[in-house]
Formats: sequence, C-alpha cells, structure tokens
Amino acid sequence: MNHVSRDGWVAYLADEIPEYLKIEYENHLYSCDECLSIYMEVLETEEASVVSISDDLADSVMKEIKREKGDAEEEATHIRKENSLRTIARHYLIAAGFTILLMAGGVFQSLTEYVDSVETTSVKETKSLTDGLINKTFNWMDSIEKKNKEGFINE
Ligand SMILES: [Zn+2]
Repeated sequence: MNHVSRDGWVAYLADEIPEYLKIEYENHLYSCDECLSIYMEVLETEEASVVSISDDLADSVMKEIKREKGDAEEEATHIRKENSLRTIARHYLIAAGFTILLMAGGVFQSLTEYVDSVETTSVKETKSLTDGLINKTFNWMDSIEKKNKEGFINE
C-alpha cells in the first residue's frame, strides 16, 4: 500500500474514513515509520485542537459553575440574613432569660420598687389632672344650667 497522506491521517483521526480503510491505514502504520511520524504529528495537532475545544468547554463549564456559585452566594446571603435574624432573636431570648433570672434573684427588686413609686406618682398626677378636668366640666355644666335657668326666668 502507498503512504498515507497527511489529510488521510487527519481523516483517520477525525473518524471520517470507512472501517476497511482504517484497518488498511493501521496495518500500514505498523510497518511504516515515515507514516507513523506523520501520524504522530497529525495526532499532536489534532490533540491540540481537541485541547482547545476542551478549553472552550472548560470555560463554559466554569462560567456555568460561577453562575451557580453566584446563585449559591445569593442563597448564602439569604441564609446569612436568616442567621442574623435568628441571632438577634436568640440574643433577645438570652436577654429575656437573664431578666427572668435576675428578677428571680431579687436583683431587680429595688428597681421594681423604684418603678412602682414612679408609676404611682404618675397615676396620682393623672388622677389629679382628671379630677381637675371633671371639676372644670362640672363647673361649666353648672354655669350653663344657671344660664338656662336665668333664661327661663327672663322669659
Ligand atoms: Zn507510509
């Protein structure tokens, strides 16, 4: 068999030749160093193109991964937000727990007494204010009544 052309090897590597020709090429390859070297050259260039294709593939895969990573980051932010909310809630619970403990321990006793006294004072003030308003209202009503009576008298 004649030497296989470079294009022949390219076609062979690209799987573009019939099966019987492949067998012929392969048999020739085993017995011809010249064709073997050409074959190796073609194989290297083909591999390079295959590598570049896989680079493109890798790029797109990486892009896809980055995209998904972005989603994951978004999700992570969401989770972080939820976590911070949970942390705040937990701190509130801890604070509430401490309050209960301190109350039980009587630490707040004096403070509670102070608050009670303040509340009582404010209630007293409110009462006096209300009383004053009620008195004023009664006085006003009295005056109206008097005026009405006077009016009746005048008629
Ligand atoms: Zn050959």
